[in-house]
Amino acid sequence: MSENSAEKIDKPERRQFRAIKGTRDILPPDSALWNWFEQSARQVFESYNFRDIRTPIFEQTDLFARAVGADTDIVHKEMYVFGDQRALRLEALQEKIEEGAADAERENDQKLFLEPVRQFIDEIEAGLAAGEMEASRSAFDSLAENYRRFDAIASDQAMRCEPEFGNLRGDLSFKCWDFPIGETLALRPEATASVCRAYIEHGMQTLPGNQKLYYVGPMFRRERPQKGRYRQFYQVGAEVLGPSDAPAIDAEVVEMLLTLFHRVGLANIKLYVNSIGCKECRPKYVELLREKLREVKDRLKEDSQRRIETNPLRVLDSKLPEEQPIIETLPRISEHLCDACREHFAKLKEELALRGVGYEENWRLVRGLDYYTRTTFEVTAAGLGSQNAVCGGGRYDGLVELLGGPAGIKGIGFAIGADRAILSIQESGNLPKLPGLAVFIAWMGAKAYAPALSIAKKLRALGLAVELPPEELKFRKSLGLADKLGARYALIIGEDEAASGTFTLKRLSDAQQQKLDEPALLDFLQSEFRGANAR
Ligand code: AMP
Repeated sequence: MSENSAEKIDKPERRQFRAIKGTRDILPPDSALWNWFEQSARQVFESYNFRDIRTPIFEQTDLFARAVGADTDIVHKEMYVFGDQRALRLEALQEKIEEGAADAERENDQKLFLEPVRQFIDEIEAGLAAGEMEASRSAFDSLAENYRRFDAIASDQAMRCEPEFGNLRGDLSFKCWDFPIGETLALRPEATASVCRAYIEHGMQTLPGNQKLYYVGPMFRRERPQKGRYRQFYQVGAEVLGPSDAPAIDAEVVEMLLTLFHRVGLANIKLYVNSIGCKECRPKYVELLREKLREVKDRLKEDSQRRIETNPLRVLDSKLPEEQPIIETLPRISEHLCDACREHFAKLKEELALRGVGYEENWRLVRGLDYYTRTTFEVTAAGLGSQNAVCGGGRYDGLVELLGGPAGIKGIGFAIGADRAILSIQESGNLPKLPGLAVFIAWMGAKAYAPALSIAKKLRALGLAVELPPEELKFRKSLGLADKLGARYALIIGEDEAASGTFTLKRLSDAQQQKLDEPALLDFLQSEFRGANAR
């Protein structure tokens, strides 16, 4: 073999990896805009006494199936569902143990049982070592049962699996958790379900008052990607959970949302509100709607025709132009609310007016699921084309109970699509002035290096962004780089400056220079950047 061909074989295949379709990298400087947006949300939400909650990005599939609705597109078609690999392996091994136990009994040969048991134990131990706690109580119990069965026939034989089994029992008794083996997991398509699950799991109903929680994080839906629609996207959301459903809560949530949108300068925002009744009045309205829809069925398209029977409210979501005139003739829920719901909606509108929040009523703003009650709302913004909804929200008074929690816990919340909100801000060109690189330290000569390091540390301690080149650069090159990096100031430290303990500070926008000693320099830069780089 020639040297050349050996080289060819050793060389790994060149492969370029790309981000998965529908996902994207958020790079600087855009990432600074994202941080600013998220930080603004945190500040506004915390000023309303909402507090951060962080839930896992994957949960049992069934949680979402229940909360979002098993027959919705999200659950039906768009969730990223995966088996828990070790749990699946354990499940397969469990079957082998059962077979092994039967074989051992039949053949009176304990080895037939012991082998799969050992594999099972290895698998569990590997899981425990990796901090994975999939080894469920049920798997362990099944092993115990099989072991007892085997032990009965093997008691007169020399070889026993007692020691291994004994150790495992000790280990597992406190490490096992109740995750049923073989259950699938899903990446979260939204976070309300997780927040309610956490609320129930941690008994948060025993805490005083309503729980006001917010979250920021990625969600996952396998949708057809387009502008403003991604498979990994980010939501900033808030939920209020607790015993009260006072309309002032709904109004506060909406006011908070709009305060954020105004603060970040979102253009052309429109708030739409509606009430979709409760379990007393909505079923009657849905039946009436169904009857009317049946009368016009022939004029509707296939999807709407199907929904007349499965979920008539969703016909109101239709965007098909030819269906619009028909939908306009349908009965409206506002005319069929019960007294309590009508009053709740009237109060909400009063509250919004009191808070100076402008809105438009939109009777077609509905949610198809039974646990949604009363208030629904949506906000649209400019520059987003067909995907112009930046936020959706509403009341979900039945959800906590549906997920196995205590009765009587009410809920309301919203989720902002951060990708869309940021896109809209970018399209409008109304970008915030974000603090960039404040000072570039142009040091030259070995004697300047130590003072450069020292002053960099002091400036950074003031909260300024400082760049210090790791290698000495020629004067021109150094200033050129400072310019390209967008620095506001270049701090020049040559050997002369190092010797005299002074600094030359150059403002890069107009090349104005001044000589300062250290206290004066720190004073000057601190007042220059006051507020801008505050942490
Ligand atoms: P939803 O949970 O469907 O009510 O969505 C709430 C908000 O999240 C929407 O108003 C959108 O702004 C945003 N959103 C939903 N799905 C996506 C997606 N696939 N890509 C980007 N943003 C989305």
